[in-house]
Amino acid sequence: MELKILARKYALQNALEYDGKANPGSVIGRVMNENPELRSQAKEVSKVSMQVIARVNSMSLEEQKAELETLAPELLVKEKKEIIKELPALENSENGVVMRLAPNPSGPLHIGHTRMAILNDEYVKKYGGKLIVRMEDTNPPTILPEAYDMIEEDLKWLGVEYHEVINQSSRFDTYYKYAQEILALGKGYMCDCDSETWRNLKNEKKPCPHRDTDPETNVQLWKDMLAGKFELGQISMVVKTDIEHKNPAVRDFVAMRMVEEPHPLTGSDYSVYPLYNFSVAIDDYEMGMTHVLRGKDHLNNTYRQEYVYEHLGWKKPVFIHYGWVSIEDTVLSTRQIKADIQEGKYTGWDDPRLGTVAALARRGIHPDSIRQYWNDVGAKGVDIKFSWENLYAFNKDMIDKTAVRLFFVWNPKPIKIIGIDKLHSSAPLHPENPEMGNRETELSGDIHVSITSDDLENLKPGSLVRLKDLCNLEMMPDGSFKYIGNDLDVLKKGARIIHWVEPDAPEAEVHMPNGETINGLVEKTAMEYSDTVVQFERFGFVRLEIGDKINAFFTHK
Ligand code: GLU
Repeated sequence: MELKILARKYALQNALEYDGKANPGSVIGRVMNENPELRSQAKEVSKVSMQVIARVNSMSLEEQKAELETLAPELLVKEKKEIIKELPALENSENGVVMRLAPNPSGPLHIGHTRMAILNDEYVKKYGGKLIVRMEDTNPPTILPEAYDMIEEDLKWLGVEYHEVINQSSRFDTYYKYAQEILALGKGYMCDCDSETWRNLKNEKKPCPHRDTDPETNVQLWKDMLAGKFELGQISMVVKTDIEHKNPAVRDFVAMRMVEEPHPLTGSDYSVYPLYNFSVAIDDYEMGMTHVLRGKDHLNNTYRQEYVYEHLGWKKPVFIHYGWVSIEDTVLSTRQIKADIQEGKYTGWDDPRLGTVAALARRGIHPDSIRQYWNDVGAKGVDIKFSWENLYAFNKDMIDKTAVRLFFVWNPKPIKIIGIDKLHSSAPLHPENPEMGNRETELSGDIHVSITSDDLENLKPGSLVRLKDLCNLEMMPDGSFKYIGNDLDVLKKGARIIHWVEPDAPEAEVHMPNGETINGLVEKTAMEYSDTVVQFERFGFVRLEIGDKINAFFTHK
């Protein structure tokens, strides 16, 4: 490379690092390092560098940055954010671990669920052992039949390596067996109080009249319940805890009740269903969990579940609760989303406005950035506010190195170029990876290109512009643009670098996460990058979906 250009590159880089003023020693050092044969011409190198530095130091920071962006974008300083944190060690993990993810198949996973998925997966990968996916599907009215498959797809996309999938709805016989055992042990009771009376008594630390029924009678009532001798809602099976427990939520809880609604997998084969705390305690024990890692919102559930372990004389797993995560500005209620999809408000579970895993994938969020995010946050008990900005920063680090650069012109306005009838543009697909190749554009005859009206509005006759990777222009009084060569020195005369697209560039529609759509033109090369994350220069990263038209889903800046 010519000495002058080499010096200019490093002068610009050094100036940008030091508030606009390049330091001759550093610049000359970098020039020599890159090109050791210049050492023999130290005098010449120093002379040229000093001239270049004087010129660079007279430019504004913005001009310096703009020029370096064109000349050697790989030298632009980037903010690096590399934090690799270890999750806290798990006690009793010497012989490997058995852990689980226990989603409710009421909808696919959303960003909030990814924490339990990633953390459990990380620990099983770290210590070895088994990760079980347990579909907690014992509440038929809330089940979305497609969710079983969607959840598995989400987990696979996230890179979660699970070893087994078990549906709770295939385990009724197990729940029945233990319900009867608990009744026979006098640790539970059949209760036909109406639920409000029962709850009010509990709130006053008072037992209901059925709490002291003898075990034989309870077992008989239980068998009658299974045999269908009661009406819906007439009777349920309750696990005793401590009726005087200081936390009312922990006092006796309903374990089994009747459900009328058919189940998507088992139809009407069963009408007696376990409630969450009962089936979870039984399954965690039966499936051999060594560690149960879940959110603090389950703390009261843990206290209840521990009674089941105690009644049955079981060894408890290690329970770990991480803090609450509040996720703002994102609709996460599965019930709400389901209703809104039905009403046509959202296009589906992967609508880019949603916080579902499917929507994030569609927008070009890399699964490893989600993993990095949760590893970074850790498994501590403190409550946190989810930061989309941090997730985006992790994601950007990940995709920036490979995403091809394309020109997208929003709100396009055609301009006419005069004074030349043939132009060729060869623009790198990625400024730091020349091996990725170039995108070539030929323009000839009456040359027109489109630029964004945001840029056009800032120009007046006499303004100089550089069409990136194409040529320099001067605006004429009649609004056309005269070709004035291709020398980057034009930047020093105040030309702004703007982007453009060829006259027959296809239309593209960008879907923003806030529901807004931005229409524009994108260079034809985009057609080769369907299902790929690219960077629309000066706009942001997007994931392309190309069908009858070009749809782009905004990832982040
Ligand atoms: N199905 C429960 C949930 O999604 C599981 C919680 C747990 O026990 O980890 O909240």
